[in-house]
Amino acid sequence: MRGSVSLPALAKQTGWTLIGAAAVFSPIMVGSLYWQRQMLLIALWSMPALAVMVLVGFSGELFIGQLAIFAVGAFASAQLTETTGWPFFGAVLASTVIAGLAGVVLAAPALRLGAWRLAITSLFMVYVVPDVINADPWHLTGGATGLPSVTSASLFGHQLGTEGLELFTAASTAVVVLVVRNLRVSSWGGCLALVRGSHPAAESVGISIFHTRLVVYTISALIAGYAGAVFPHIDQYLGPGSFPLSQAILLLAGPIIGGMAALSGAIAGTALLLLVPLVFVSFVNYSLIIYGAVLIVVTIVLPSGIIPALAGIAGRASKTLRPPQGTGVGNEPAGPAAPSLAAVEQRAPIEVESVSKGFGGLLALDSVSLVAAPGEITAVIGPNGSGKTTLLNVLTAFYRPSAGTVRLAGRDLAGRKPYQVARLGVARTFQVAHLPQTQTAREIVTTGRFHHESASLLSALFRLPSARRSERRNSAHAEGFLSLVGMGDVVDRLGSELTVGQQRLVELARAIATGSPVLLLDEPAAGLVGEEVDHLAHLLTHLKALGYTIVLVDHHMELVMRVATKVAVLNFGTLIATGTPDEVRSAPEVVAAYLGTARAVTTNQSPNSEQPLPTDSTAR
Ligand code: ADP
Ligand code: MG
Repeated sequence: MRGSVSLPALAKQTGWTLIGAAAVFSPIMVGSLYWQRQMLLIALWSMPALAVMVLVGFSGELFIGQLAIFAVGAFASAQLTETTGWPFFGAVLASTVIAGLAGVVLAAPALRLGAWRLAITSLFMVYVVPDVINADPWHLTGGATGLPSVTSASLFGHQLGTEGLELFTAASTAVVVLVVRNLRVSSWGGCLALVRGSHPAAESVGISIFHTRLVVYTISALIAGYAGAVFPHIDQYLGPGSFPLSQAILLLAGPIIGGMAALSGAIAGTALLLLVPLVFVSFVNYSLIIYGAVLIVVTIVLPSGIIPALAGIAGRASKTLRPPQGTGVGNEPAGPAAPSLAAVEQRAPIEVESVSKGFGGLLALDSVSLVAAPGEITAVIGPNGSGKTTLLNVLTAFYRPSAGTVRLAGRDLAGRKPYQVARLGVARTFQVAHLPQTQTAREIVTTGRFHHESASLLSALFRLPSARRSERRNSAHAEGFLSLVGMGDVVDRLGSELTVGQQRLVELARAIATGSPVLLLDEPAAGLVGEEVDHLAHLLTHLKALGYTIVLVDHHMELVMRVATKVAVLNFGTLIATGTPDEVRSAPEVVAAYLGTARAVTTNQSPNSEQPLPTDSTAR
């Protein structure tokens, strides 16, 4: 995958990161100890702010407990240097690992929580930090007095001093920025965006939500822990007052004010939060009020943050700097040729045996038995609410059947999770397309390959050649899959810029990209017009010939009757007919159930009509 951010966003990041670096280094040239210290603090606090950005911005996890992890890193590093005499950098690295582990332990309950419960739980974690330090239950924090004489920072036997520590911290921040940026533009960044946008979509391409969250929490904890480990060596003091709750809020406020769309937003926001109070320090009694007012005004006036606003101004001022519409990072030469579809390697029939699914008193599926064979298109039709989507949800393990069994290539799917079923080779689309709005079609389709062919996390974080190679390959493949579904010309369009029909086809491309031999399609023709339906019909026929097992749920009768090998008709959760399109078309009970009354047939709405029947609006 070529990346999860567009070229302008990347330019913004790089540009502002350079400006940030210049700002950090300039006081050294000026030689002011006071400013060196301010810049040191900005560089240091930018790291946990970036850790917040990784979780909240990239992954949509409302976890704001980084300050607690930061505090663990700080005390570990202070204790290791003081009591065991470890050298500064060794202690910092060891403390990073300790804080990373603590972060995972702290996040463990959070991994099962969603949104606001997660926010509150993590806020409480930070809330108790000063009290835990005060109580000192493990005799590690020095209680109310804290640790007053933490070893000063030194490298290779040389004391760093403020200037040296400032350089060290700025370099550390630069490395963190690079790693976080690599994460974002890698296939992992695409995976995070997909998880943030839609858990079902991520699971449908074989991504484990739990595993992904664990990975991103660990990365975030390591960053916050590292910064925490450097922290006590600045003032050589740690105490209960070192980690006030307000600091945790500022860690979140920094990236929000700076702007989550660019990494430099975290640095700019943190800088603003640290520098503004210095400006108002002379208004002793009003400084906090003015500070608060400035923050409120910035948040209201610039809702997407300072950096995106500045980038917008810069973009308007110089249109030549703006790449043409639709140009993404992925527009570089594609490298290896795009794939042409081959016959499926493992033909995989799906067998549904006496499956029922109830919701409270409602039986959405009532003892349904059906076989979808490889090399066939099994269409499932029926009026709205007849249980078609429920059937697909049962087949993909999003719903557990109340009774009956589902077998894939002879293997019972009972007890498996959706992402496990996806990994076994079942891909699907949704009745309402689940596409991340801020990603390009290419990036979206690439996530279909994530489980099968993504670079290792480590090579992605450091952008090693293997990561670049796999990104190039995936990007070319994504382009190929998009052309296959007739969407070759929207490759670099964002999800939010696609029409409903295009979204469906891009989602279909993502499903095909998984390489699964089974495709379950929930109303793929809804929202498609003229040629697009034709193209879809040809594509489905082609996939059928290649040995795919296709289950097609659709209201578009012309399409269904044209491509289906077999048609199964559901009504109120019961299978009322199964047969060839011709058999089903002429069955009176089907016409009555599907169209309501026989009169409808005479008003030119036969199942064979060119005109698609109204689509289901249920959003699942
Ligand atoms: P179709 O796709 O054929 O239009 P669905 O499978 O979406 O129908 O729905 C079948 C029935 O099951 C409907 O009455 C619907 O309201 C109900 N249903 C589906 N999913 C749920 C759910 N998660 N909770 C409660 N009822 C549901
Ligand atoms: Mg439906």
